[in-house]
Amino acid sequence: MNDQTLIWLEQDHRYCWHPFTDQHAWCDPAFERLMLVRGSGVWLWDSEGRRYFDGNSSIWTNIHGHTHPVLNAAMKRQLDDVAHTSYLGFANPRAAELAQRLCAFFPKESLSRVFYSDDGSTAVECAVKMALQYRMQSGEPKRTCLVAFDNAYHGDTMGAASLGGVGLFFERFRKFGLPVKFVSNLDELACLDVHEIAAVIIEPLVQGVNQMHQWPAGMLRDLRQWCDLTGVHLILDEVMTGFGRTGTMFACQQEQVVPDFLCLAKGLTGGYLPLAATMTTEAIYRAFEGKNNIFYYGHSYTANQLGCAVALASLDVFEKERVLEQLPEKIAVFSDRLRGAFPQHRLRTCGLIAGIELLKSDGSVYDVNDQMGSRVCHAARKHGLLTRPIRDTLVLMPPLCSLMDELHCAVDALKAAVDDCTR
Ligand code: PMP
Repeated sequence: MNDQTLIWLEQDHRYCWHPFTDQHAWCDPAFERLMLVRGSGVWLWDSEGRRYFDGNSSIWTNIHGHTHPVLNAAMKRQLDDVAHTSYLGFANPRAAELAQRLCAFFPKESLSRVFYSDDGSTAVECAVKMALQYRMQSGEPKRTCLVAFDNAYHGDTMGAASLGGVGLFFERFRKFGLPVKFVSNLDELACLDVHEIAAVIIEPLVQGVNQMHQWPAGMLRDLRQWCDLTGVHLILDEVMTGFGRTGTMFACQQEQVVPDFLCLAKGLTGGYLPLAATMTTEAIYRAFEGKNNIFYYGHSYTANQLGCAVALASLDVFEKERVLEQLPEKIAVFSDRLRGAFPQHRLRTCGLIAGIELLKSDGSVYDVNDQMGSRVCHAARKHGLLTRPIRDTLVLMPPLCSLMDELHCAVDALKAAVDDCTR
């Protein structure tokens, strides 16, 4: 290991605290910590000069690859003007342009307003606070409850985490959280008293953190119908599924559903900077007019100009490089290759999102103590692939820009790692 790497690792060891991490295991000398220093396209390099395929798009954010010339140029241009200005009491050109571009994805008179924040959790946090405050200002003060789905994940701030159904992450804080009723499917909605419900939140098509669990086809449309019948608002969390990941720009478009609130983050900036958007309808927006109805919410970096500039450039790349048009062929090859490579395992794919739940040769699941998912992902590094499992489900979520041979490369590397660990 070179001297510079050793210095950085020592600093990390002494001064840093990583998310979702057992720091004791992380700092164990036997655990190989990688310092990522450079990227180009789908590839990342560590401080030792080793190259890896970015197999989870840098935690589900990257869309067009790293150091993309169009995104880089847009950021540099913006940087020469200004990096950040307050959105509190001032406007900025990039945020204005981006809001218009985002609204243009949806039918007129549906999602027509954009509220900016910083990441997926805050996009959800905003939607939830708006949904609750809307009821207070619209003569429905009893609608104070939210509905979420079992095993959902919507982020880690207190409000967003209240909606999370993964006990390990939030159970210890449950008593401090928002009033939320959890359901596992649409049938269970019938047991709820709808007059006390403000909104229901769902990750459309696929629950990412729930090992890429997929909802049945048509479910989203049925949920929209239930919301229309009951007056409950529909919040879609497209933090993971947005920006082409499922094959269409937004997952909700696959079932011709438009929500009352749409939460976007991760891929919004192509994976470059933290920026989020909560979109909503004109009717909801109007309920916040007047000095008694102000939405008291905002962050220092709301509508950051660099973030908005790179988000605009990312939308340009979608158009110029005809990114969505190329997806069907990539998705077909990707899922074919995965089916061929992992016949023994439980495969869940949706667009360029794959969850491969590892199973033993007799079809049973591994003991959690075997940590098979982590072992395989660790072994994958040797084959030039970086990714992170969810329990024993391997996640492969390549950037949308991946070329065919790069997709093959990623699947080959993951298969080699599985073979290493299970042979
Ligand atoms: N919602 C979903 C569906 C997510 O997958 C995530 C992050 N994995 C979040 C919300 C939270 O986003 P962030 O980590 O940017 O706060």
